[in-house]
Amino acid sequence: MWAIEVENLSKVFRKTTFGRRQEEWALKGVSFRVAEGETYALLGPNGSGKSTLIRILSTLLVPDAGRVRILGYPLPEGERRVRERIGRVSVDAAFYKKLSPRENLLFAAQLYGISPKEAERRAMAILERLGLETRRFDDPLEEMSRGMQQKVAIARALLIRPPLLLLDEPTTGLDPRSRRDVQGFLEELRREEGTTLLLTTHDMAEAERLAHRVGFLVRGRLVAEGTVEELKAMAGAGNLEEAFLRMTGEGLEEGTDAS
Ligand code: ADP
Ligand code: MG
Repeated sequence: MWAIEVENLSKVFRKTTFGRRQEEWALKGVSFRVAEGETYALLGPNGSGKSTLIRILSTLLVPDAGRVRILGYPLPEGERRVRERIGRVSVDAAFYKKLSPRENLLFAAQLYGISPKEAERRAMAILERLGLETRRFDDPLEEMSRGMQQKVAIARALLIRPPLLLLDEPTTGLDPRSRRDVQGFLEELRREEGTTLLLTTHDMAEAERLAHRVGFLVRGRLVAEGTVEELKAMAGAGNLEEAFLRMTGEGLEEGTDAS
């Protein structure tokens, strides 16, 4: 079974600047599938459409064309079921910054209908596994580094034990230590719970370490996909970065876009 099926997906944003109407195709005819239990990384520079794609798959945005099925449920019809079954992690994750990780997670658990006891147990186990010191569990979130806040965002997304996790740049802007913690945790999650992972990144090493398959997204188009070995062979390149450059004609600078 496919966890994600995307066919000919397009999304256009219309804006008016200085009285002129402009169309911006954030996604254009994107098609790909992700198998159950697979980890798929979307590599693309800033503005290539990564966040737009994640938002459509997590039912926050409606596409202008194309078909999407998540865990077998077509969108938009299966919207409610999809929401109940996926976890989404993004750098712009909304939290109550004055509240602690514990309070934020218990609040989220209430929304999901999980008992506080079960939520506390699961959330704290995840946070400890991610290397967040237990003594920080009750500090206000706003006093924490981006790395720590990202770990709380991951714990929140995992409260419902989702079979599918959508991660929008889960490690962008993190210090090397937090980055390794998060990557190691994602590997473990996939191994132990069989979770399907779709992540976006502009970190080549991350894609190589985590992903079974990688897709190159450039200016809204999926220009190539395959295993790292397949992509290197297709491009006649020695490494993934070179393959990306050759197939897209673009570099992948480390950005810090928070979209
Ligand atoms: P990425 O996540 O790869 O950086 P995005 O999906 O955020 O790319 O953006 C893709 C393109 O769509 C960009 O050119 C961006 O300006 C545009 N875009 C994204 N969201 C919106 C929006 N809500 N309104 C208008 N334009 C948008
Ligand atoms: Mg983005």
